[in-house]
Amino acid sequence: MDNEADVFYRELPKVELHAHLNGSVSFQTIEKLIHSKPQLNIEHSMTAIGKGQRRTLDECFQVFKVIHQLVDSEDDIFMVATDVIKEFAADGVKYLELRSTPREEITTGLTKRRYIETVIQAIQQCKKKGVDIDVRFLVAIDRRNGSQVAMETVQLVEEFFLSSDGLVIGIDLSGDPTVGHGRDLLSALQRAKNSGLKLSLHLSEVPSQHDETDLLLNIPPDRIGHGTFLHPEMGGSQGLVDKVVQKSIPLELCLTSNVKGQTVQCYSDHHFKYWYQMGHPVVICTDDKGVFATDLSHEYKMAATTFGLSREAVWKLSQQAIDYIFAPDSVKELLKQKWRDLQPQEFK
Ligand code: 5GP
Repeated sequence: MDNEADVFYRELPKVELHAHLNGSVSFQTIEKLIHSKPQLNIEHSMTAIGKGQRRTLDECFQVFKVIHQLVDSEDDIFMVATDVIKEFAADGVKYLELRSTPREEITTGLTKRRYIETVIQAIQQCKKKGVDIDVRFLVAIDRRNGSQVAMETVQLVEEFFLSSDGLVIGIDLSGDPTVGHGRDLLSALQRAKNSGLKLSLHLSEVPSQHDETDLLLNIPPDRIGHGTFLHPEMGGSQGLVDKVVQKSIPLELCLTSNVKGQTVQCYSDHHFKYWYQMGHPVVICTDDKGVFATDLSHEYKMAATTFGLSREAVWKLSQQAIDYIFAPDSVKELLKQKWRDLQPQEFK
């Protein structure tokens, strides 16, 4: 049974800006995929990290590999994207930027182009069916695949940027942060930026990435994913913080993901506190709601209970996230109107 607080957080209109498609696949959708591919012998314990459990970051990346085995055809991608969009909508998310890494699979004939087209089709189908959520797509570059793949991805995305009617709006840089170096991806990312694509980069997700972060901040990215080790208390530096603040780059913060992936010891140690108290733009996100067994309502609730935010402050946090979306100002205005319509009288 939902208690009154759960209802408040679910009904709170929300913006989700950091959600990896294959990390967001729910238990129910995984169940369907397991049934359709019994020969893989995959169990739920291999695709999600339950309550109270933790994994090393390396183990988290193994989980994505298992999910990729289950999601390897156009049909799978269409189903997964449709389910994920509907689940976010049911959780009160009104605007979603979904990110995913295009893959090719020789056995099923999947190509990177078809991968992107299929995600777009799922978004369009949900819209046609009247699902109450505005969805955009950020195409991801997996850093482990190096400079050539990064450049090819950007070239492909440029085509969709022009032809997808505003659905494909940007690039995400993600993948195992311990593999590769950002300097090899710099020219692809710069090209994307010059083409008008928005950039969200995972930065300083693990310690000792000072040089890479410093370099990539010069582009500059339009948003930062995690940024866990940017600030001096986490081994980062004041210089990096100053750069982020001076360029006013919003941070996408994913509390449960960081705690379960053990880059942050516990909720109360989360760097949300550092940036929020400073008044810097932050957006609460899920990262991988399937893998980390969470949803955006729960993430807001955890932030509020851990850091003592009032309901009014929570409302403000969700409303301010509109300013950091990658869709144009006309979309921001529509969302702001939606928030005004839904706002409880006592917060007006
Ligand atoms: P997909 O791109 O296949 O839809 O979603 C899964 C992929 O997203 C993973 O293979 C990984 O490249 C990326 N990803 C998901 N969560 C994280 C994270 O917390 N950090 C980083 N760096 N990458 C992630």
